Amino acid sequence: MPELPEVETVVRELSNEICGDSISSVEIFRSNPIVQGDLEAFQQQLIGRTFKHVTRRAKYLIFHLQPSGYMVAHMRMTGKFIVCDPMDVPSKYNRVWFHLSSGRLMIFDDVRCFGTLEVYEKLSDSKALSKLGIEPFSEDLNVNYFKSKVASSKREVKSILLDQQIIAGLGNIYVSEILFRSKISPLRSTETIHNKEWSQIIKYTQSVLEEAIENNGTTISDFRRVDDKTGKFQQFLKVYDKKEQPCPDCGVPIQRIVQQQRSTFFCPECQH
Ligand SMILES: [Zn+2]
Repeated sequence: MPELPEVETVVRELSNEICGDSISSVEIFRSNPIVQGDLEAFQQQLIGRTFKHVTRRAKYLIFHLQPSGYMVAHMRMTGKFIVCDPMDVPSKYNRVWFHLSSGRLMIFDDVRCFGTLEVYEKLSDSKALSKLGIEPFSEDLNVNYFKSKVASSKREVKSILLDQQIIAGLGNIYVSEILFRSKISPLRSTETIHNKEWSQIIKYTQSVLEEAIENNGTTISDFRRVDDKTGKFQQFLKVYDKKEQPCPDCGVPIQRIVQQQRSTFFCPECQH
């Protein structure tokens, strides 16, 4: 599933491709992504609008339209956007085609069909966006923020970092990497985490995400960039998906455990 760096990569690449271009028509091949309102309303809200810019909030893409409106997209497991010439359509899982006035297509492609596309006149109308926690790069992310959110909580630190209503945009891959670099066990209860350790978590949250964005995200399974290239942050992963391989710092085999039905990778020697 794409996480924040992958979504940021797509946002930057889409911005270069579509800003200034307008939507001349919308063809819907499968209605699953349109989760709100009827299909005709979805099309009518988009036709004739121009893409002003594309931004990100957590793992949502926000297409800012002119003269007004927003399309909010979530790629979920396998969704992707492709911008191409109509003669050059690459895949068979196309769900929606946005015909652009430049003659090109923006395709929403989604093998497993969990991705969503929603259109709003005002962003504040999106319930999903209004529930999201703080952005990892926000200036308001500090030790006190975490402490106020988890005060005397016995939840495991990994589940706090995955909680989109506390900090938005982190997923399984990056949380394993952040906790490894912070030298904190994913099993630690948050009430035992000291101020210094929260500072480490914040520092590595930002540096791991920055490094991943610089490398255009991580390609583990389905993530592809707009131009169908893969990201290359997987070369920098230290523990994720490395069960039984030696820890890069101490050589002890990396362990895999399951928390909340999802894999966690960590070094039992380095992380306490
Ligand atoms: Zn180690």
